[in-house]
Amino acid sequence: MVQPLPHVREIPPYVPGRPPEARPGLTTYKLSSNENPYPPLPGVLGTATQAAEAMNRYPDMGCTALYDALSTKLDVSTDRLAAATGSVALIYHLLAAYCGPGDEVVHAWRSFEAYPIAITAAGATGVQVPVTADGRHDLAAMAAAVTERTRVVLLCTPNNPTGPALSHAETAGFVAGVRDDVLVVVDEAYLEFVRMADPVDGLALLRDHPNVVLLRTFSKAYGLAGLRVGYAVAAADVASALRAVALPFGVSSIAQAAAVASLAHEVELLARVDALVGERDRLVAGITAAGWTVPEPQGNFVWFDLGDAAADFAARAADAGLAVRPFAGEGVRVSVGEPEATDRLVEMLEKEPPPA
Ligand code: PMP
Repeated sequence: MVQPLPHVREIPPYVPGRPPEARPGLTTYKLSSNENPYPPLPGVLGTATQAAEAMNRYPDMGCTALYDALSTKLDVSTDRLAAATGSVALIYHLLAAYCGPGDEVVHAWRSFEAYPIAITAAGATGVQVPVTADGRHDLAAMAAAVTERTRVVLLCTPNNPTGPALSHAETAGFVAGVRDDVLVVVDEAYLEFVRMADPVDGLALLRDHPNVVLLRTFSKAYGLAGLRVGYAVAAADVASALRAVALPFGVSSIAQAAAVASLAHEVELLARVDALVGERDRLVAGITAAGWTVPEPQGNFVWFDLGDAAADFAARAADAGLAVRPFAGEGVRVSVGEPEATDRLVEMLEKEPPPA
């Protein structure tokens, strides 16, 4: 039998967030994939439906309308943009373009579970730097982990699944201290949910350091997770490499149209993000009042650091009608969703003692 390359066997599994299990008499909520709970805006759905009428044709491989709209929004030239089927695809493209066997990729851990998958799939070596007890990147340790073999550093802000975000000052300090032949990827999948003093200004970082790559997505704040569209903002040569290795015609015409329409409806969509941030605040207040603590959430999710109690906690949440995302032996991530789901979770916490 033909065997895959040895490193393919080393690729860890991706465990997707599960849908809720039915519980008689209970409305159930999916809080397991950091999705946006709002349905599509009629204007976005209408545009996507119209685009579907041309599904017999290939999409615009140059993503012209999307790059034009992003170029206007971000005030960067279109040659500095690269779109793909979700920002997760851009991580693959980046590693395909810049890393091979023997190269090292430094990232925080626990962080986004696709990182070790993509790094292993690229044949590169991941160097995982533990997050601090409060779920933050340990930037000093990450800087110390960079060697002459390091090609890429992945920063995840806010960090999925633990929640905290990096400040601009600490990120700028980190980038300034890294060799300029190392790409520093700032994964900003949850950017729009950040509410803190001195948030990362990715475009300013990029202006000062052409080795910075920003990754953004339409999956979270813009609610297009099912259509798969994300983008990178980078120096023109980096963006060009990302486009070169991408699958031809990857981003569907429906996804491109919906993304452009979402940018046109940004005010309404960002008002929904404000509402979700309000819900996040209400959830944190409830968690705290129940005697529990979570690391500072800056995305649309909270993290319960539970160790071996993670699976039991997730099972109790399922009994309460809430599908959450357990990470075996580590903790549980719960997405911020409908107000009823917040109430349900807080009720559950009020009934059980927080871990000692
Ligand atoms: N980065 C982070 C930190 C994420 O949490 C996710 C989604 N879970 C992604 C990237 C990928 O998002 P998408 O591929 O849907 O754009």
